[in-house]
Amino acid sequence: MTLTRRTVLAGTALAAAPFGGQALAQAAPSTPGSSQSAETSQAPGFYRYKVGDIEVTAINDGFARRPLEGFVRNAELSQVKEAMREAFLPEEALPITFTTLVLRRDGGGLTLIDTGNGDSGAPTSGFWMENFRAAGFEPSQVENVVISHFHGDHINGLRLKDGTAVFPRAEVMVPAAEWAFWMDDARMNQAPEGMKGAFQNVRRVFGPIANDVKRYEADKEIVPGLTSVAAYGHTPGHTAYMLSSGPGKLMVMSDITNHPALFVRHPDWAAVFDMDADQARQTRHRMLDMAASERAQVAFYHAPFPATGHIAKEGNGFRFVPVQWMPVV
Ligand SMILES: [Zn+2]
Repeated sequence: MTLTRRTVLAGTALAAAPFGGQALAQAAPSTPGSSQSAETSQAPGFYRYKVGDIEVTAINDGFARRPLEGFVRNAELSQVKEAMREAFLPEEALPITFTTLVLRRDGGGLTLIDTGNGDSGAPTSGFWMENFRAAGFEPSQVENVVISHFHGDHINGLRLKDGTAVFPRAEVMVPAAEWAFWMDDARMNQAPEGMKGAFQNVRRVFGPIANDVKRYEADKEIVPGLTSVAAYGHTPGHTAYMLSSGPGKLMVMSDITNHPALFVRHPDWAAVFDMDADQARQTRHRMLDMAASERAQVAFYHAPFPATGHIAKEGNGFRFVPVQWMPVV
């Protein structure tokens, strides 16, 4: 086919068709993570890289579409659409991806950082276990699950809707400040109606193991090489991490930003999910500045897969520069 301006435009119109998202959602498998045909599926969503002696494997859990209207609290919709256009992203809805990390040392068990949506997320999510197994791992190998904060897309992979614990052998480690906030019944009772579900979900996930959950403080080495970093604002106990091994370093940014095209580029913008927008903004500036000046490798939970790269200063904000895909670890 000859490529003409007309065929290009026709393709664009198709991609941007209204309700394209719903059509996709309906076509998605009803069982999360169930196999698609070989012709339409992608390669499994895992990607390995090294940080010193520690092998890191990014595991993708699909995505969810978020309408842009009302998503950024302190920017006009037209500004947000402009940022999406600059990043060549759709202007109707933001595809928010989910990427957890698996850490492994030679001969050691596995440490997870966050767990994905389990079977509680959008129909376009729920691919985590399929990708985890495709990377050669089994849930029984997991020794520690480190949780950054208690939003559902980070904790629901711990427990299926029917109550099944997904990592029965693992020690679950959570930020002490996060636990103190979400497990406080008085706070739950005072919370606005729209937030009560989040409190109840925290109880659903952690209630059965409440006595065994290990609560960690900020600025502590919580498993070998992994140090917690207070990154409050997105939630009251939201935690980032520094992973270090020999000369290798990785700043695990968790949710200090949602999609980099919006919030790395515009660090003053506040996503509707940031519970304390001012504190989250200060945290975001502090950590992005540090990453840029130290030229540190970073990983974000909601960056495009494999969700790792570097931060460059640009204008009043920053730019996320993804790593180059490598065929060998
Ligand atoms: Zn999140």
